[in-house]
Amino acid sequence: MRIVAALFVFAGLMLGVSPRAAPAAGLEVQPVIGGNPMRCYDFRGAVVRTLQMTELGDVGRASIIARMPIISLDPDRMAALPPKMQIFFYMHECAHHVLGHVIRPTLQSERDADCWSINYGRWAGLFSRTDVEGFAPYFAKSNGSKFGHLPGPERQAYLLNCFDKPESEPVQQLARPMLSLPSDSGSGSRAAGQ
Ligand SMILES: [Zn+2]
Repeated sequence: MRIVAALFVFAGLMLGVSPRAAPAAGLEVQPVIGGNPMRCYDFRGAVVRTLQMTELGDVGRASIIARMPIISLDPDRMAALPPKMQIFFYMHECAHHVLGHVIRPTLQSERDADCWSINYGRWAGLFSRTDVEGFAPYFAKSNGSKFGHLPGPERQAYLLNCFDKPESEPVQQLARPMLSLPSDSGSGSRAAGQ
């Protein structure tokens, strides 16, 4: 029954994709985020597919639909953000899959996903400290959420702390090839850990 329900939801999601949301892309294995082709694998090593979905109610969302790990992104909200923040939010959602939050969310899930995203971006050479400092205006007015998102200024401080002290967070996850990121020269993709 649960599977049937999940399939129904999945069908609803597909039908719900508006023409503006690049339906031709469908469920992307390697979406281009902030100019970078990105890949995400979940805690089982399964590829996480990305679905562009308008009026999502948030920038992004991590879910499992019909056993398929999915990152939903709102293209309109993403387009309003600078490229580095688009990468941050994509990797935040990826982190929910990497860290298994989609199966077992905790009160720490949002903070852990934030830190994982920052640590990974730092490790992959996608984020400088200046990049993270540049997030501040975009978080300044957010109030946080009952789901564990910190209020904007606190979240910003938390992200910078993650950047400065990567060893204090789930660094062991970084040793595994979870994302395939391009080199800065744009000469193709490389697997993390290589
Ligand atoms: Zn989250």
